[in-house]
Amino acid sequence: MILPAACQAHGKRTLALCLAVLALSPVIARGVSKPDFKPGYNFYSPQEDVQLGRESSGQIDKQLPLLPDAEVLKYLNDLGKKLVGFAPNNHAEYVWHFRIVNSAEINAFALPGGYIYVNRGAFDAAENEAQLAGVIAHESGHVVMRHGTHIASQAILAQGGLAILGGIFGQSGSLGNKLAQLGIGLGVDSLLLKNSRTAEMQADEVGTYILYQAGYDPHAMVQFFQIIARKYPQRTLQFFSDHPNPENRIRDVDTEIAQLGPSRGRMTDNTEFDGVKRYLATIPPPPQQTGTPKADARKEPPPPPSANMVRYDGKIFTLNYPDNWQSQRSEDSVEIFPPGGMVTGAEGETAQAYGVTVSLYPPQQANWGLVDATQELIESMRQSNPQLHVMQQTGMNLRGNPAVSVLLQNASPLEGQRETDHLVTVRRGDSVLVFIFIAPAGVFDSYSPTFDKILQSIKLVR
Ligand SMILES: [Zn+2]
Repeated sequence: MILPAACQAHGKRTLALCLAVLALSPVIARGVSKPDFKPGYNFYSPQEDVQLGRESSGQIDKQLPLLPDAEVLKYLNDLGKKLVGFAPNNHAEYVWHFRIVNSAEINAFALPGGYIYVNRGAFDAAENEAQLAGVIAHESGHVVMRHGTHIASQAILAQGGLAILGGIFGQSGSLGNKLAQLGIGLGVDSLLLKNSRTAEMQADEVGTYILYQAGYDPHAMVQFFQIIARKYPQRTLQFFSDHPNPENRIRDVDTEIAQLGPSRGRMTDNTEFDGVKRYLATIPPPPQQTGTPKADARKEPPPPPSANMVRYDGKIFTLNYPDNWQSQRSEDSVEIFPPGGMVTGAEGETAQAYGVTVSLYPPQQANWGLVDATQELIESMRQSNPQLHVMQQTGMNLRGNPAVSVLLQNASPLEGQRETDHLVTVRRGDSVLVFIFIAPAGVFDSYSPTFDKILQSIKLVR
């Protein structure tokens, strides 16, 4: 099964915080026409947001490849600063630094205090300046609603509450070191970046408000999210994993826009944006961020799957897999595979020869039935796997949810071999959660008991 070229290895987050016990969640109180944006509870001051953001960005700048090109950075910072001028709850302390990550992955994220990172892939995918502005406005929404330190505050409360607050805030020194004592890191996989659906909804609302006030088409932000889901189905799981897709996103934004009042005009001049895109196209492509060492496509088969299982905790599902396999979150999916299960294909692309891959597929029509959505998914998979054939398709039941089970045959990335893929789809909101169990056709039967155990262990969250 061919996977996206630029697979990025992320460490699995191992923090098991019992956030569910917290009933307090941020709310937005809405006026008749002007929304009243109220951040959730927070033990930090805005100055401490900046301090934590600075410590976190210090780590992240070392972890991520940044694009140093002054011209593009100036464009992004000018655009960003113009936009945040319209942000509600914008404290004077916030620093508003905008950086470009040299990654083809379509993503962006924000640290407390105003450190915003936009991937090069987001520039590539945006069709006009308003859409890019929408991404920046959404991320600014996370900053001004103080989502990072709200999550940290939730974690503090969950891990002992007020008793440890003295320890966190009682002395001067690194706020990050103090969070580290709670098991919360500040790097690219930090809990500070794991926004809830509520937080995403708020960032949408603030982002839409900013676009509107700045004179952009306020629909541009959600339009961008829809476009990337449709045009780049293989590159969006990471994005929607970092940005859990709020249900009714479009309807909520439309309702908000209607309440904001008459249009303030729709900026259409993209001269500078087009120039930046053209410039980006001339610089070398982003480095491959694969954590998988180059593998010889004719290597030894993997060792047998261990009978001991460990748990993978995803945001929308959990499952158990053999403890001699590893899980890897890449840009649009989670791959779980035995040693040697990932190989480098003929054209240098990363491909999975053994194991299971899980991704989220947003069908073109949100109201499509599961069978139609699965059909469309198979068609889209065929674009990068031209030898894909459906052998058998049936309905099944996954944990009480209607699911579709499809047996596929495909070319294996292992030289000269065929592979069997067992595809299982189940609906999650407007999207389809996709599990693909992969092994070379000749040994698929010997992997079936393990695949069945994994399948039976799947639990859908929410
Ligand atoms: Zn977000």
